[in-house]
Amino acid sequence: MPKRSANALKPPRLPILTFDEWQLRLALDGVFNVTWLMPGEPLLSILWKFACANALPGHVLLHLVCPVVDPSEGVVPVRKAINVKDLCRLIRLPRNVLLVSLHDAQRHGRYHTNFRYCRQCAAHSYHSVLHQLEEEDRCPAHQQSLETRCPHWRRETPYIVSASIIEAPFRCVWCRSHFSYGRLSLLSTAPAMRRQDRLAIERCKKRVRRTNKHSMSRSTTMP
Ligand SMILES: [Zn+2]
Ligand SMILES: [Zn+2]
Repeated sequence: MPKRSANALKPPRLPILTFDEWQLRLALDGVFNVTWLMPGEPLLSILWKFACANALPGHVLLHLVCPVVDPSEGVVPVRKAINVKDLCRLIRLPRNVLLVSLHDAQRHGRYHTNFRYCRQCAAHSYHSVLHQLEEEDRCPAHQQSLETRCPHWRRETPYIVSASIIEAPFRCVWCRSHFSYGRLSLLSTAPAMRRQDRLAIERCKKRVRRTNKHSMSRSTTMP
């Protein structure tokens, strides 16, 4: 039997935090600034920023967001699957911001189940819940057609919140190629997008909201 090496029993040089220590650290000095966000950012991109600002590993963040799921399998970003109250406490964002960052499970089939992006928005670290909607073909800000395949191998990244997707912001989860044109600065979304782009996104959000209200009232008055 080989002798056990004394070195192997030494603690690692870098401290590895336990889950409880991560929780405590976030409770004491967790950071998130609402000004990093643009209107309509989905939960996934909010979590990319939160993970980046707090140096959080994907599996730890997943366990904090949804303790009942396997972090490698992840969770679909719909209201039914995520506890918004716990999420508010963790990220310290207003409830309404988090509610609109999630899709409605009742409307399954209306949003893409693969990550769908505008290359120019990705270059500004911006993703929108609007990009995921089936009825939208183009980015409201840049009028570019929306893509689901990575530029390198043409593979699709599932639209879920999982540990590996948290660790690959605006990248293909398989080959890690960037969806944008260069290196991203994840905290710079709001100042990076032009005012006219923000207004175009706001207009599109209002139009979608109106259409939803209209179709809901039609379906409730149908015999
Ligand atoms: Zn765009
Ligand atoms: Zn790829």
